[in-house]
Amino acid sequence: MWLPELNLGTLFIDGGWGPSSAGTVFESTNPATGETIGTLSAGDATDTRRAIAAAATAQPEWAARTAYDRSAVLYEAHRLMRERADDLAHLMTVEQGKPLRAARNEVNYGADFLLWFAEEAKRVYGAMIPSPRADQRFLVMHKPVGVVAAITPWNYPISMITRKVAPAIAAGCTVVLKPAEQTPICAVAIFELLAEAGLPPGVANLITTERPEPVGAEMLASPLVRKLTFTGSTEVGKRLAGEAASRMKRVSVELGGHAPFIVFGDADPSHAAKGAALVKFLNTGQACICPNRIFVHRSLVGEFVATFTERVAALKAGNGLEAGISIGPLIDRTALEKMNRHVSDAVSKGATLVAGGEQLTGEAFGQGAFFAPTILSNVTPEMTIYREETFGPIAPVITFDDESEVVAMANDTSYGLASYVYTRDIGLALRVTEALDFGIVGINDINPTAAAAPFGGMKESGLGREGAQEGLAEYLETKLVGLSI
Ligand code: NAP
Repeated sequence: MWLPELNLGTLFIDGGWGPSSAGTVFESTNPATGETIGTLSAGDATDTRRAIAAAATAQPEWAARTAYDRSAVLYEAHRLMRERADDLAHLMTVEQGKPLRAARNEVNYGADFLLWFAEEAKRVYGAMIPSPRADQRFLVMHKPVGVVAAITPWNYPISMITRKVAPAIAAGCTVVLKPAEQTPICAVAIFELLAEAGLPPGVANLITTERPEPVGAEMLASPLVRKLTFTGSTEVGKRLAGEAASRMKRVSVELGGHAPFIVFGDADPSHAAKGAALVKFLNTGQACICPNRIFVHRSLVGEFVATFTERVAALKAGNGLEAGISIGPLIDRTALEKMNRHVSDAVSKGATLVAGGEQLTGEAFGQGAFFAPTILSNVTPEMTIYREETFGPIAPVITFDDESEVVAMANDTSYGLASYVYTRDIGLALRVTEALDFGIVGINDINPTAAAAPFGGMKESGLGREGAQEGLAEYLETKLVGLSI
């Protein structure tokens, strides 16, 4: 199996690979088999300080390069990533567990951010604003925020890195990134590729570790770090954003979700059920945009659940390297315990278990934490699954009767990331879209994401947007110039 070079150590600081200062290591394992894939350096506060210093030294020179120079590095990184797509996808399946086809999609999605921000790097425009004074002109210009601390999760171990690093680099910032402890080798592979693409020393630095706290604390304590960009759980994101705010650092946080998926009475139930099965079980339900509450109009619920059940029955669980697999393992046993807790709580409060509901064991599943794709119907607001992000392959179906009721139910959550609406009535679609407190709405569409589109949530799903023009603005300061003539 292809792996990036790990022997020199996996901290990438000031353009060189090396071990942690304390010499400590940790292992990355395959969630489908429990086998060790590789040994990584476990960075700590000292290493993080060194990486921040390198980023701070490199930043003025990187910002002084032309946008065309910065863009050229991103174009080359994009080319290398596409060239290595098969190896990267294979690595991702082995380290994170998602089926190979889904891993290929993620590699392409991750590469799209390199391309998009290679293009956007050249479009950081300023403005000239008329002044109320005849002898004055206003100029607006942008400058990079400075050193960025980036923290990423395991569920999208490549695209969550490029979604942050590409705009930071394009803007003229420098970065210190801490990837998730479950998927550090994917991060090493991306940093190897960035170095090969010609990124100067210190512009992007990587701290792999299995102890996130001291690394995060150092990132937040350092006055050299001007921005925190975090993707992960709402619990950790709120804590880190709070600390960053107390030090007046800029913050972007992409957090958890609890997406409503609303099927109105005029929708095509087969089309909606097909969409629900695809997006609910994406990455084994471990995506922030996965539906967590599927609201179906009473007139359609029987037909919808029947088609949905047929589709779910066709999903095959197993090692993502094998052909025909669409459900990989959960990331760990804690996730498995959460699935059991959500199912037993819902069933004890009156939900009907339509499909699945148990851990999958046996030879085909080895040591992996596999859970059967599950459908619960008659789910109600008293159940834990109605409130907590499940982050696994359980689809709760809730029946509703009218538009205002379902909008209120959909918005009855502290989250506000993705939402989905199925209807053939354009007026209804627009009314509901306007009423939903979510950053993303898919109308008869289960994939409302792309590098060109602003991704992000409202309420406790986060602050800021990634991708699109907005994604670059997150890494730029605005400077106003008053010019007396
Ligand atoms: P998590 O536990 O919050 O971890 C996310 C990252 O934060 C990891 O790198 C983790 O390191 C690190 N971390 C944890 N505690 C830290 C601390 N005290 N200081 C510094 N870093 C710390 O989340 P996760 O389980 O990896 O990811 C799943 C969550 O991410 C879900 O809620 C999902 O909805 C959300 N997500 C959101 C988006 C979005 O775009 N909105 C995208 C993907 C995922 P370790 O790995 O070492 O613990």
